[in-house]
Amino acid sequence: MSDDPETLRQIEELAHDDRPLLVLDVDDVVLDFIGPFPRFLEAQGYELRFNSPRLHGNVFDLSSGAAAEAETVSALIDDFFHGQADWQTMTEGAADAMAEIAQQAEIVLLTAMPHRHRETRRAYLNALGLPYPLLTTEMPKGPAIRKLRGDTGRPVAFVDDQPRNLISAGESVPDAHLFLLVKDSRLRALMAPPPEELIFVKNWHEALPLIKHALGLAGT
Ligand SMILES: [Mg+2]
Repeated sequence: MSDDPETLRQIEELAHDDRPLLVLDVDDVVLDFIGPFPRFLEAQGYELRFNSPRLHGNVFDLSSGAAAEAETVSALIDDFFHGQADWQTMTEGAADAMAEIAQQAEIVLLTAMPHRHRETRRAYLNALGLPYPLLTTEMPKGPAIRKLRGDTGRPVAFVDDQPRNLISAGESVPDAHLFLLVKDSRLRALMAPPPEELIFVKNWHEALPLIKHALGLAGT
């Protein structure tokens, strides 16, 4: 599995930290995506149909009813991330949970999006009062998480809403605690049963005590 060189460069810039490590996806873990994205689409004349847990193939032109071409969907996603501060709200419970965990652990945000959107997302996270380091990757997340852990055997927990990202993490860091957070009941209904090694949670209220326990933090 290859590493994203830009992600590795971003990791090199982080301050050294050997406390337990919590890695968080951003979309639908820290910032809402599947709520606001359909509203954004409607404003552009499209709709998202929940036929499968994918975006491509499920975006339709509201006037013609035709499925949008792959390039159109990609362009709409790009526009959404460009204007994310106008659309994306904070995931309920995320800020308080992060503030509590950050007292005893390192938190790093790892978002799978084109590197060119990093500054936009950084600025928006700052505006929301979320100072945690933000990394972008255009490749599988596992190698980045292995690199983030460093040479120590410190505990690692990772929260994402996409099983494939968690599976990638498990391949690179076999003892990582992998949390599948899926808030949206429509998406939960469409998902295949997750692999056994993933810890399934529906919201941050459920996730917080489990993450603290997995990382061996006090107060669990
Ligand atoms: Mg996500």
